[in-house]
Amino acid sequence: MDVIDKIKKNYSAEDYALLLSAHNYAREMHNGQKRASGEPYFMHPCAVAEILVDLGLDTPTVAAAFLHDVVEDTPATEDDILRRFGKEIMTLVDGVTKLDKIHYRTHEEEDAENFRKIFVAMANDVRVIIIKLADRLHNMRSLNFLSNERQQRIAKETLEIFTPLAGRLGISQIKCELEDLCLKYLDPEAYEFLVTNIHQKLEERKSFVDFVVAEIKEILKESGIKGEVIGRPKHFYSIYRKMKNQGKTLDQIYDLTATRVIVDKTDECYEILGKIHMKWKPVPGRIKDYIATPKRNMYQSLHTTVVTNFGQFFEIQIRTYEMHKMAEYGIAAHWKYKEKGSVEAKETNFDARLSWIRDVMDWQGSLNESKEFVDSLKNDLYDNELLVFTPHGKVISLPLEATPVDFAYAIHSEVGNKCVGAKVNGKMVALNSTLTTGDVVEILTQSSSRGPSWDWLKFVKSGSARAKIRQFFKREMKEENAKTGKAMLEAEAKRKGYNLNDLLTESSFKKLSNKLVFSSVNEMMASVGYGAVSVNQVIFKLIDYYKKEMPKPVEVVDSGKLKHSPAGSVTIKGMSGLLVRFAHCCNPVPGDDIVGFVSRGRGVIVHRSDCTNLSDADKNRLQPAQWTGDINTDFLADIKVISDNYDGVTAYVIAEIAAMRLSFTQISGRINKDNLAEVDVRIKLNKRSDIDLLINRLKRDKRVLDVYRTTN
Ligand code: MN
Repeated sequence: MDVIDKIKKNYSAEDYALLLSAHNYAREMHNGQKRASGEPYFMHPCAVAEILVDLGLDTPTVAAAFLHDVVEDTPATEDDILRRFGKEIMTLVDGVTKLDKIHYRTHEEEDAENFRKIFVAMANDVRVIIIKLADRLHNMRSLNFLSNERQQRIAKETLEIFTPLAGRLGISQIKCELEDLCLKYLDPEAYEFLVTNIHQKLEERKSFVDFVVAEIKEILKESGIKGEVIGRPKHFYSIYRKMKNQGKTLDQIYDLTATRVIVDKTDECYEILGKIHMKWKPVPGRIKDYIATPKRNMYQSLHTTVVTNFGQFFEIQIRTYEMHKMAEYGIAAHWKYKEKGSVEAKETNFDARLSWIRDVMDWQGSLNESKEFVDSLKNDLYDNELLVFTPHGKVISLPLEATPVDFAYAIHSEVGNKCVGAKVNGKMVALNSTLTTGDVVEILTQSSSRGPSWDWLKFVKSGSARAKIRQFFKREMKEENAKTGKAMLEAEAKRKGYNLNDLLTESSFKKLSNKLVFSSVNEMMASVGYGAVSVNQVIFKLIDYYKKEMPKPVEVVDSGKLKHSPAGSVTIKGMSGLLVRFAHCCNPVPGDDIVGFVSRGRGVIVHRSDCTNLSDADKNRLQPAQWTGDINTDFLADIKVISDNYDGVTAYVIAEIAAMRLSFTQISGRINKDNLAEVDVRIKLNKRSDIDLLINRLKRDKRVLDVYRTTN
């Protein structure tokens, strides 16, 4: 009976018409194409559809099976399918076509698991996977027409990817056949050995199996329980695996046959189990109750191994018809059930079935309404995971919303550290863009790259990328970097008229590390030294915090007259009243740390102690100095304003000075090489705090980038 006859027999007239048209359309489109065997290509989609008909799948699935290679291999487009067969079938075909494009290349077990996940994740509808499994089954059946190298590759891929998927979905019919086919190509000798010897053993044991079956039938009859008893040879691969895993020879394996008892009700299973144990002795540790504790794929059955009076072992499985269908068809039983069961029974058992499928698929969402069933067969199976590919087809698993940087570090720390750009599906993207499952990600590296950026820590999603970035900085943060960084910060603080020790306090560091993610002062110094953060980034913030913590300056009153030699306001080495002058290079004002320089014939000149001109001075001529008494004198201070280049920047500076009722003695402006405005102004004042107040006021304008005190 060919597939069309089977469809005619099992599906409604309407469905038959639709399936026939899908069949004919595919035949027409594949016309002239040949398979490796030399047969017409169309026999392949036909065979796939037939496998699904035998499993009892629904009409859209079978239609999609006929059409599954049409878009990929013929001139037909998705649109053609949509117009002729509607959206549901088109979506299924599209899903299969997409899965075909994934190329599985690596062989590590971990990757195989990831691959299974991505496969499921991309399918979006479990029926797509079922079609794919049927497709693979038929390809495996006709594998002998391919080269040995391709046979090996496809068989290995099937064993790593497809048979576990079939097992997970509980479709043991497909799983067992696939496993045996894989064995045939991957270990032909073992396969031949098993085919020959198991056959012989089965022959030898046939009368024994017949005897057991007859005995159990007798038990059923005596108990008044209706049911079937079947003695069925196990598939080769399960025996092969047992021999390998347990190091046994074929002679040591006693359960070559699975004897199955199938009854109507669950309590009858237990009743039969008890009666079998009364007749034959059970082997301790071999009784398994998968009814009470179903397997992960919801397989249910009672298993026991018993030993006859002649010392022969055999295994018996006891289950209901319902459980048997599950064991054979797995998730596909949903449709088979639909097809055969009455509407009423369908509703009654729907919840149970739903929960079964939910467990099989690890569904996260809730499936409440039966009409939503097919819709919700979308997979949220691996909902919390993002799976993407390297250009070579290796699967990388990442947390949701991961970025190319996460990907780069998942490949290798060095790829992350040298990453300078990324392409997703062939297009350049920003390093902080979000990846989606199925993306092919390519990382661009440059050996001259200085390493990761601190910014990356703000957007990476995976803990391991975060750790590796931190590790990089830690490793690069040798003492040298820290020293360089410290020196750079000190110099910059000084240039701006501050002392780093004043700026960098416990509380200011705390604020700073909130902004720039440093875990210690040393780490900060080192990252400045290494160039991961700019000196200004740190200094600007520190100065800002410093100023906010400063007490508010008192209101400024009229400034009075400028005095050039305010004798009496400075004490040199404990003595007041000396002739002192104030240096014009740094213009110290009361409140500044000062030092006296003993000049030849011009008395003592007072400098700010951080004045850069003093670094070359003869240390013997320097004398400690202090401000004393009421200071009622005017001083000069030089201030530099750096701002965006706009009309009126000088006017703005003057207006702010005037607003503080201060005056100035010089002002000059210019445009620097960075096209920024620089205004130098010499202010007249009598309190050091006025400088800070003025600087703060000037900085309120957003266009002003920096204001600081200068040394000439
Ligand atoms: Mn195919």
